[in-house]
Amino acid sequence: MRLECDYNLRDNNTFGILAKCKTFFEYDTDNELFDFVRLQKDNKDFKFFVLGGGSNVLFTKDFDATIIHPATKGKTIVYENGDNIFVEAQAGEIWDDFVEWCIENKAYGLENLSYIPGTVGASAVQNIGAYGAEASQFIHRVKFLHLDSGDIQYMINEACCFGYRESIFKHLLKGKAIILSAVYKLSKRPNINRSYADVEKYLTDNKISDPTPADIRNAIIDIRRKKLPEVSETGSAGSFFKNPVVNAETFNALKTKFPEIKYFTAGADYKLAAGWLIDQCGLKGFQHKGAAVHKKQALILINAGNATGNDVLELSENVREKVFDKFGIKLEPEAIII
Ligand SMILES: Cc1cc2nc3c(=O)[nH]c(=O)nc-3n(C[C@H](O)[C@H](O)[C@H](O)COP(=O)(O)OP(=O)(O)OC[C@H]3O[C@@H](n4cnc5c(N)ncnc54)[C@H](O)[C@@H]3O)c2cc1C
Repeated sequence: MRLECDYNLRDNNTFGILAKCKTFFEYDTDNELFDFVRLQKDNKDFKFFVLGGGSNVLFTKDFDATIIHPATKGKTIVYENGDNIFVEAQAGEIWDDFVEWCIENKAYGLENLSYIPGTVGASAVQNIGAYGAEASQFIHRVKFLHLDSGDIQYMINEACCFGYRESIFKHLLKGKAIILSAVYKLSKRPNINRSYADVEKYLTDNKISDPTPADIRNAIIDIRRKKLPEVSETGSAGSFFKNPVVNAETFNALKTKFPEIKYFTAGADYKLAAGWLIDQCGLKGFQHKGAAVHKKQALILINAGNATGNDVLELSENVREKVFDKFGIKLEPEAIII
């Protein structure tokens, strides 16, 4: 457990932005969290933000309240039922350690979500997704501390209101729930998802005709390392914007004007590749003060050196404006701006 005042969060956010919080509380066991929260019961001014790995947040100013940081560890097989295997991980577990551990323990499904930065707790908040998979396909239930009642509660998948990078924890339960752990329902049988062209190319290049889940994990890590900035080297929050979803009418009008437009179908709607929209505005590598658009992947804004949160925010507004002027599309940030 750690409790510090006037704490510098630079090492706690992957953008590497210097921002301070009034109080920083890190806990190693859920009981430490319960004690801490109980002590705040009569403190009407108590305000907090739960910070996992800080890989999807942008601090634009000091945070004049408490940062609660889960450092709880533990991964277990809860039970097995036919081909299903239920595994539970504590909120502070590093997501990618969990994915690796699942594969080692023959619990399959999360391979395509390999190498995403952050913690298990946030995986449920964010409904993380990549390479044709989303956390919500596998989450069985989420255990959390409800701040209003002080109770421990459980939320089954169907009640989590999962959507594209969305969940109930970002809306109805925002600021009210601290996730303690998540149970994932995985499969004992490999179910290989090689739907992405990059994955297929890796398998062909490496002459792998019958891939195992570990091969898919290796493919994803290799692809991500080549395409995305390494957290240890370049500050970013991954995709800064969501891919905008538009209806058929808007899509058809855009497709007529921009026949090359990159998109995916999303039910009756269309998800536009935000990186492509930004790239078409000639913004790849564009720098604004200490922040820049990544040279290889336009969807990623980076700390090009000593960026402040406001440098990144101004750059993001610049990007949004240019994309709106060219395509009439409003980009929404995926990163949480504080
Ligand atoms: C290089 C890079 C690549 C990325 N690639 C992807 C990708 O492919 N797909 C993808 O989906 N995301 C991606 N991301 C974004 C990020 O990794 C995910 O959003 C991740 O889930 C954030 O985890 P975190 O622990 O860092 O959460 P934080 O950034 O610390 O927090 C994110 C949100 O979750 C909340 N939260 C965190 N823990 C808890 C908890 N225990 N209880 C309640 N609320 C909590 C926070 O309050 C906040 O609202 C990428 C980021 C980077 C830097």
